[in-house]
This record gives sequence, C-alpha cells and structure tokens, in this order.
Amino acid sequence: QAVLFDAIPARHREGFERDPLAGYFAMARGSADGAALEMTKWFDTNYHYLVPELQAGQDFRLRGDKPLAEWRDARAAGHQARPVLLGPVSFLKLSKCTDGSNPLDLLPRLLPVYLEWLAQLADAGVDWVQLDEPVLVTDLDPALALAYRQAYEALARGPSPRLLLATYFGGCDPELAASLPVDGIHLDLVRGPQQLATLLQTLPRDRVLSAGIIDGRGIWRSQPERVQTLLRELDEWRQAGRLWLAPSCSLLHLPYDVEQERQLAAGLQPWLAFARQKLQELRHYADWLDGDAAAEQALREQAEVLACRPQAAGVQRREVRTRIMALSPQAALRRSDVTHRRAVQAEALALPSLPTTTIGSFPQTAALRQARSGHRRGLIDDLDYQALLREEVARVIRFQEDIGLDVLVHGEPERNDMVEYFGEQLEGFAFTRHGWVQSYGSRCVKPPIIWGDIARPRPMTVAWATYAQSLTSRPVKGMLTGPVTLLQWSFVRDDLPRAEICLQLALALRDEVHDLEKAGIGVIQIDEPALREGLPLRVCEQAAYLDWAVHAFKVAAGGSQDRTQIHTHMCYSEFNEIMPAVAALDADVISIESSRSRMELLEAFQAFDYPAAIGPGVYDIHSPRVPSGEEMLELLQRALRVLRPEQLWVNPDCGLKTRDWDQVEP
Ligand code: GLN
Ligand code: ZN
Repeated sequence: QAVLFDAIPARHREGFERDPLAGYFAMARGSADGAALEMTKWFDTNYHYLVPELQAGQDFRLRGDKPLAEWRDARAAGHQARPVLLGPVSFLKLSKCTDGSNPLDLLPRLLPVYLEWLAQLADAGVDWVQLDEPVLVTDLDPALALAYRQAYEALARGPSPRLLLATYFGGCDPELAASLPVDGIHLDLVRGPQQLATLLQTLPRDRVLSAGIIDGRGIWRSQPERVQTLLRELDEWRQAGRLWLAPSCSLLHLPYDVEQERQLAAGLQPWLAFARQKLQELRHYADWLDGDAAAEQALREQAEVLACRPQAAGVQRREVRTRIMALSPQAALRRSDVTHRRAVQAEALALPSLPTTTIGSFPQTAALRQARSGHRRGLIDDLDYQALLREEVARVIRFQEDIGLDVLVHGEPERNDMVEYFGEQLEGFAFTRHGWVQSYGSRCVKPPIIWGDIARPRPMTVAWATYAQSLTSRPVKGMLTGPVTLLQWSFVRDDLPRAEICLQLALALRDEVHDLEKAGIGVIQIDEPALREGLPLRVCEQAAYLDWAVHAFKVAAGGSQDRTQIHTHMCYSEFNEIMPAVAALDADVISIESSRSRMELLEAFQAFDYPAAIGPGVYDIHSPRVPSGEEMLELLQRALRVLRPEQLWVNPDCGLKTRDWDQVEP
C-alpha cells in the first residue's frame, strides 16, 4: 500500500523508477541502494509487515491500479469481489516518520488519494469496498479518535462504492465505531464479544453489520451452541437483510486445509478447522439461519463431536491438574536473591570479567539439513544420524575452545526449530504436515498444535548437554525454549486459559532444568524471544498477561540451586515498555538484541537499575555482514557507559543457525 500511495523512501526511489519490481524487492529485502524497510510484527500475530517510511510534508499520489485490476480479474472469472485496503488512520498509525514527526499529521495529505481511489472504483462499478481499521481495537487517545472522525467524514463526502469498515483482533470502542459515516461495519465477535451489546444499541439501523463469528486466528471448530446463541441476538439485523456472516479476521493467519492432515494424532482432525473448513462452517450457519435442515443436522453433529473432546484420552491428565492445584507460590522463587546467587556462581563458575558466550545455535549447514531430511525419510538410520550430530557437537565445542569462548554451547544441530523440537518430545502436542502460515515474505512457519495436557515422558535435552559437557572442562550452557515462547508460537487449545497451558509447559521445563542440574550442567538458558509479542493490545489487559507469563518463566527456573546460573534470551526488540517484567523474570543473565539500535535499548536497563547481568548483542546475526572488531568494541564501550563492568557479557545478538561458517568464524 505504501507503493500504491507512492510512499517510496528516497534511497529506493531511483531503483524503483528504473525497475518497479526490482525496486519493490529492494524495499522488502534491502539492496546495494540501501537497507530494507524495517520489519515488525503485525499486532499480536507472528506475521511481520514492512513499516512504511514517511516524513513531514510527504506527497502521496495514486500509483498504478493494482486493486482495481485485481477486482476486474475476479469479475472476469465470474466472482463478486470486494476490494480491501488498510484504512487511512491504521495506515498512518502503522507507518513511521523518519524525521520524528507524527504520521497522523499527514492525514489531510493522504485522504485525497483515498478519495481518488474510491472514485475510480465507483466509476468502474464496484459495489462494496472494505477498509480495514484494526487500530480501532487498540486504546485510542483523543487525537486518534478525532482522526477517525475526520477521515471517515471526508471519505463520506466523495463518490465511492458502499464502504465496509472492518475491525478485528479485539473489540472496538462501539460508540465511536457506530458514529462513523460508513455503510457497514465488521466486528470481531470472537475476541471482542463484549462490544456487541452497546453496538447493537448505537448502530444506526441503516447499516450493514458484518458479524465475525468464526475465529480467524485459531484452528478449532466453533461450538455451534455458542454461535447459534450469538446469531439469535442478531435476528433483528437478519430480518432487515442487513446481517453478513464472516470470519473474525482475514484468513491469513490460518493454514489452508485440514483434510490434508491424514496422519494427525487419532481423533484430532474432526475437532479442527483450517481456512477451508472455517468457510464451510460459515456456510452452515448461514443456511441454518435460513432454516436449512441439512445445515442444522451438520451443526448438530459438529456439536456432538466436540462434546466428546473433554473425555478424550490425553486432553485432561489427572496428574498434571493435581500438580498445578498443589503448586505453592514458593515454586516460583529461587532459593536466594540475585546478589547472593551472583557470589555463589562466581565461585562455582570462576568466569573472567566480560565473559564471552553465544546464544545457542551454530550454523545449520546444508549437510545437517540434508541429514535431517534423509533421517526423516528413512534413508539414514538412527545410529548414523546420531553419530553425525555428535560429530557436529564435538566440532563446535572444539571451535569454541580454540577461539577462547568462556561459556560454551552444544550448537543445537539436532533441532529443526526451537518450538517443534520440544513439542515433539512432550505429550499434548500434535504436528501438521502442511499447516504452513506466512510469517514474512516467502518465509512460513508451521506452528505445532497444543491439544492436550502437557507431560514430559523423559528428559529432552540432557543427553546432548552432558555429551557436550563431557568434551570440555569449560561450562556448557544447557538450552531450553521457555514456556511463553512454546505457547506463543503454537496453535493453542481453546478449552483452557492460556495462563494455565503456559504453567503446564513451565512444569515440564522445570523438570528438565532439574534433570540438567542433576547431570552436572551449571548454566542453563531458557529462551523467551516471544515474551514481548504476547503482550495484549489493550493496556488494561497487559498487566495480567505479564503476571502469568513471568510467573510461568519463574516456575520453570525456580527449582534450581543458587549455584546454577539461569540465562534467558530475548530478541525482536521493543522491550523498553516491559522492563519491569523482564527484571521480574529474576534470571541471572539476559542476552538481548541491541546491536541494530546501537545499544539504545540499554538506557532502559540503566533507568531501571537492572540488578542482574546483561549480554547486549555486539553484532547483528540477521545480516550476512561481518562487522569489524572496532565496531564491536565501540558498542561495548557504549554499553559500559550505562552498565557496570561486572554486569556485562559479550555475545552476538541471537543464535547463529541462519548464518554460514565463513561469516560465523571471523
Ligand atoms: N537458542 C536459540 C538459538 O540460538 C534462540 C533463538 C531465538 O532467539 N529465536 O537459535
Ligand atoms: Zn534471538
């Protein structure tokens, strides 16, 4: 949309004019002309978008007619389609001004482009157009609410198809939404059911109500009774012919088709709905409203299948529930405070000042990936595969010793993915074959499914950690993915609060920490890169989330001895606003991404007087570029301006698995 509005950063302008497609890619991926646009997470999803770069006085103009051309294609193919753009306020709010000015100030300059676009569509005979305004479900300050009024009043004055204003990912402010002069409004009634009552009272009776009744973010089939009750409340709208049924949000965040998953754990498939099945459900509800007997029957059967879910084996495990009930508040506490632990660990580990370490993974070379897929397909037997992995572990241990690192890692060659690896060893998880969801560009992720109570039948990482430790006299760091990240990067069951699922994961990890300790591992890292991303969009819900998320981490780490040094790792920045929660994790050492922001992040640690040790990444592992020694030294010196020397660790800013050895070694 930035390109549609001609908001192309100056460094990419020339390349773009020369070759628009190449320019488009350069903006997304970076090129010799300059860095890519910044990439950041789309609301609270794991999808990333490129942040448009704007500046005060920015000129916008309509560039090309992509949405209109696509609408024409759809019509030629016999479909009645509705063009969709992000609305003007969300577009500006999600952009950034490189000169520090406020993007919202650009609204008067941007609205004429929307007006021109809408006029074109009206001219071409488009009936309805949709403008997405997910920012409407966040906390709006008065300036933002005013921007909404101004924007939509301006758009209502020009020629336009009928306009559907779409909100999703939560409830909007129903009074504001109902007051905007549009022809219809879409509501996410899965995440924001509470908005409905007020909206039904305030929404003018000539509007269309698009009811998002099917969860576009989760993979579970809907509960027919619940949806049918909701639909009964909307009967007045239906009778007036002004009710539309829709998924709660776009289907971008779901895999495509659950029918492809024939190997899923027994009994699981009928509980699940991916994008195709979600639309079939929608059809059934619409037909049911029209009195269709077959739809009624299908929904009744769906309800019967789901009614058996709680009794199915593995959904509820008595021992897990009992353990959670019996968990004492002390379980979340280390034996002593961080200062005392620091002294005990200094003696146990005898590390030099400015200790060096890495974040866990070493390059996943082509040979490793080939071996893994060969092993999966049965071409390489278990013994050969294990031997190969052990060789790799021995190689990275030797390498780390040779270059003189202080705390070593085994390199994670056995892990395909930091969540999948643990999920595969825990009860309660299932895996799809084709359940890919876009993360960014052509990168997709295949989140596991948490469907049952979590149990750990046996240790998950102890053999690798102890093997690595047997090869060296330096401390080897055990490597775990934290409970919040395991939760956040999975599709999560809808029959238990997230907080409780997270606690189940934490207990499994607590047992793993205990087993690592028993096996003589003195340093254990519990990665939580997804802690920030789980933060709710509404400020009033954030404290509760941080409470249970921090609690889960502490339960995972809390059983350990004082002499065991617990590390954590976070990346994907924007930690400033959650600093108190980061400190409350009570880790002994945190490694954190900071090289891109040139250590700016550390000011937050200083302002907060962070009590434990910190390894701010001294170089950006997401780039193939090898920084010079001077650059890293300069970053460390900056870090030392805000941190005490005994607080500082030296490490890259994330795991090295996506890099090649010829970048890692230097
Ligand atoms: N230990 C993990 C690794 O090094 C951490 C990855 C992450 O932060 N996303 O790969
Ligand atoms: Zn990381």
